[in-house]
Amino acid sequence: MELARRLDLLGTETAFAVSAEAREYALTGAKVYPFHLGDINIPTPENIMDAAIKALKEGKTGYCSNYGIGELREVLAEDINRSHGTHYTLDNIAIQPGGKPVIGKFLLTLMNSGDEVLYPNPGYPIYESLIRFYGGKAIPYGFKEGENNFYLNIDQIKKRLTSRTKLLIFNNYQNPTGAESPHDELLQIADLVKENNLFVLSDESYYDIRYEGAPESIVSLPDMEDRCLILYSFSKKYAMTGWRIGASVGPKYIIDNIAKLNVNDESCTNHFIQYGAIEALTGDQSGAVKIIETFRKRRDKAHEILSSIRGIKCFKPNATFYLFPDVTDAMKQMGLADYNSFRLEALHKTGVSFCTRLHFGMPLANENRYYIRFAYSGINVDEIEEGLIKFKQFLEQ
Ligand code: PLP
Repeated sequence: MELARRLDLLGTETAFAVSAEAREYALTGAKVYPFHLGDINIPTPENIMDAAIKALKEGKTGYCSNYGIGELREVLAEDINRSHGTHYTLDNIAIQPGGKPVIGKFLLTLMNSGDEVLYPNPGYPIYESLIRFYGGKAIPYGFKEGENNFYLNIDQIKKRLTSRTKLLIFNNYQNPTGAESPHDELLQIADLVKENNLFVLSDESYYDIRYEGAPESIVSLPDMEDRCLILYSFSKKYAMTGWRIGASVGPKYIIDNIAKLNVNDESCTNHFIQYGAIEALTGDQSGAVKIIETFRKRRDKAHEILSSIRGIKCFKPNATFYLFPDVTDAMKQMGLADYNSFRLEALHKTGVSFCTRLHFGMPLANENRYYIRFAYSGINVDEIEEGLIKFKQFLEQ
């Protein structure tokens, strides 16, 4: 049977292909150091598991509301209001099976065929995939290297705005760069959004994965609450990636339509798991604190070794669990001019497995540096040290 033509437009997360390659290589008996996938090898805190198991045993096994259970929506609204200074109620929240489904539902609710959507590149690859799949025009914007971090290329965003631009996807605390916008950068983006009458998807998957200082959201800026939909995720903060629970948070007229999409799609998010999410938000937070402390130790070790390697420049981001070093000079020293040979050479000589910039979109026209991404969420400190020392020796030999 001939497949539907629309499938030609659908992209994927090519990081999963890197996992498959690493798995295959490990089958030969070789040791692999998994820096490629942003999954977490830390168990979900015990109190969250207990709450979900209790709900399961108490019979929360039928369908629930397509918006999610009221109690969870209430405590999530309160939690976001506390951290964002917003004014949400349960009417502003539709629970989703993960943060990821918010991306597609945002586009289906607000984007018409041919509308232009600005999205970050390098960035989470699902943005571009779904903009194209649902008939929009995907317009990438990039980053610039600052002294200590990456910054948004605001001039590029300005140049790429047209009368057809309707939506902006913004991922502060960014995958893959780890970049975070300082307050005045957030203000500049908010001004552009208001001047051009845009609507924003604020992907806040890593809002709480920060090592110092309080996070800040674009949603908290004046007049932005009505112009933003938050992608909220339980995955990273509470090590709940496989539970599949998140939320769409925004104006009621949008939430009501997302809830309608939920009915047509999954009916409702897994019922008993929502009780685990209530415990995550309202119960003992020591599990979440331990998770962040574990990530911090990993970040410090990975950054210490990577930044000591000749030919590598590596920022130390204050957010996310990613490092995005510039490896241009290291590749030059090795006489390698393409990402894939560099990645495979490193995997086969050292077992260190990572994604490259290409897994987060095609490089933009003005880009002339090479980057790779190390995720340290799924690998312990001793293995980080062992793997990266091998990587250093391999590059410097
Ligand atoms: N957005 C970004 C930027 C991500 O990196 C991820 C996951 O890695 C997601 C969204 C989706 O996460 P989840 O569906 O587990 O909430």
